[in-house]
Amino acid sequence: MKIEVWQGDITTLAVDAIVNAANESLLGGGGVDGAIHRAAGPGLLQSCEQLPQLRPGVRCPTGEVVATDAHELPARFVLHTVGPVWHDGQRDESALLANCYWKSLQLAEKLGARSIAFPAISCGVYGYPLYRAAEIAATETLAWQRSHREPRRIILVAYNTATFKAYQQALSAAGQTLDDESEAPRSSDRAIAAQSLMPAF
Ligand code: ADP
Repeated sequence: MKIEVWQGDITTLAVDAIVNAANESLLGGGGVDGAIHRAAGPGLLQSCEQLPQLRPGVRCPTGEVVATDAHELPARFVLHTVGPVWHDGQRDESALLANCYWKSLQLAEKLGARSIAFPAISCGVYGYPLYRAAEIAATETLAWQRSHREPRRIILVAYNTATFKAYQQALSAAGQTLDDESEAPRSSDRAIAAQSLMPAF
């Protein structure tokens, strides 16, 4: 099994869990968060508002993750994690971003998810340098896959070609070979990709 890299819209993936790059309010925002809320329908916001962790005035700390139902998405769960805002690299950004990946995988395992897809957490408005973030995504997901059985399928979703290339480079640098067996579907293969990503129940 390899860490897969796929280019496209994470909301279309029929995996058990998709990860949302949320903000501390967990009540929706722009970027991938907005796309996930639009595709999931209004039920997702209601689920977020009802999260027991979010009592009035309490925000989700950076690096933490909470799960909700995925409502109208093809996925089963949405794991909302809060990535770090990039400042200068001296404010624990890398450890906090690593937490987002590791704790999402822990929660996915707890929920019985066999497949999980991650967007490039913090690489949009939070400004994390792309390659540094890709290195963390590659290191954490490979370490998880080497030491855990589930979720077996881990997919890094790139929304654009630069992110796709950064993931391939970072995975290769972290020791994953890129060969003919590469399971990453091309972006033009979205229909096939969605089919091949259907979880096996
Ligand atoms: P953050 O606030 O954590 O930086 P953003 O949503 O601004 O989060 O961006 C995170 C990443 O998600 C960026 O690389 C962005 O290009 C990507 N992205 C935006 N929309 C989608 C989508 N529908 N599917 C997958 N990735 C997306």
